[in-house]
Amino acid sequence: MARPVIDETHDPARQSWVESAAGHPDFPVQNLPLGVVAPPGGGARGAIAIGDLVLDLGELAASELLEGAAKAAALAGSGASLNALLALGAAPRTALRRAVSALLSDEAYRTRVEPMLHRAEDCTPHLPANIGDYSDFYVGIHHATNVGKLFRPDNPLLPNYKHVPIGYHGRASSVAVSGTPVRRPAGQRRAPDRDAPLFGPTARLDYELELGVWIASGNALGEPIPIGSAGDAIAGISLLNDWSARDLQAWEYQPLGPFLAKNFLTTVSPWIITAEALAPFRTAQPARPAGDPQPLPYLLDEEDQSSGALSATLEVLISTARMRAEGHPPFRLSRTAASHMYWTMAQMVVHHSVNGCNLRPGDLLGTGTISGADSESLGSLLELGEGGRRPVVLPGGEERCFVEDGDEILLAGRLGAPGFVPIGFGPCRGVVHPR
Ligand code: MN
Repeated sequence: MARPVIDETHDPARQSWVESAAGHPDFPVQNLPLGVVAPPGGGARGAIAIGDLVLDLGELAASELLEGAAKAAALAGSGASLNALLALGAAPRTALRRAVSALLSDEAYRTRVEPMLHRAEDCTPHLPANIGDYSDFYVGIHHATNVGKLFRPDNPLLPNYKHVPIGYHGRASSVAVSGTPVRRPAGQRRAPDRDAPLFGPTARLDYELELGVWIASGNALGEPIPIGSAGDAIAGISLLNDWSARDLQAWEYQPLGPFLAKNFLTTVSPWIITAEALAPFRTAQPARPAGDPQPLPYLLDEEDQSSGALSATLEVLISTARMRAEGHPPFRLSRTAASHMYWTMAQMVVHHSVNGCNLRPGDLLGTGTISGADSESLGSLLELGEGGRRPVVLPGGEERCFVEDGDEILLAGRLGAPGFVPIGFGPCRGVVHPR
């Protein structure tokens, strides 16, 4: 993936006149993520997050403050979805970022820009794009190994894993923005000691800590995206929770893979952290262990190997109904790093399109669950609770092997690199409600 340039928008000395942006854990002026919100009494429209506020792209586009590519990008992002802006690709998106960074950091523009800002807490978040297609990968190698071990202790990774970025086609209609209630799904499951399945609410509800990758310009049907230009296909990333019903999954997944165990809901954080904002946090893809195969040439690119991974910490927190009632803060279940992905985002994009399959602006890819190598860094309760054998003990004494009604699951993430202002994703949360 080509490395976006580091420019004045990443300058750690740059400050916004929006006071809440200074030291903001997610949205300092160095981030400027893209999203869609509905302000009080208004319809959904494109916006950029800055501190505790959001900048209305429609009002900005209608002003005299932008020109050229930046104005075209703001105009394309002023509707109820960002697909048209994503379709423009990197150059107009970069022009918009540079213009907005200047407007928000130069006091001279304050009186003209301030009326275009809304308080984020007053706005309703929406999905950033109309998602035409959603696919989920499986590139978290520790997760794949841990889950494989539950079924095949001696041979956890299947022979294709180190040759192919494994994935499946998910369901776009049930991808929802952070805060959407999680209705416990019902379905078929079969107890190990029974021949016939039961129907009812899942007894093994789980979460999966993933990154979501948003597609920018995409590719025409029949025209694969080469690895050298895969960077242009990626608009940015968000957090993604691939809610999973493990008992439904175990019964239904053979021979065609996940179906109703996964497609009842997928939660994403509201903001697209753009490829430009990610530039300082790009890092080398970790070297493959000795003896692992090299990727086939269509998946291998020197630039991608040297800068295609991300320096990000990712966390899962839980807050049960009882913890909230007793005043306990959310409890961190795990903390892991984005570097535990065996394949880069660019390799996922390239593999997805190599047969001619077309990716379209606003499509969403999940990376797969990102777990680390140790027990503090597991990205699902299936792994933390060892498939139901070792419950996690929470503050207040409750135990969890799977997610219960009333539980809130929160994903959080932060990108950091020496010499740069850290940026975050914003929340990705959901409370589970009974069937
Ligand atoms: Mn998944």
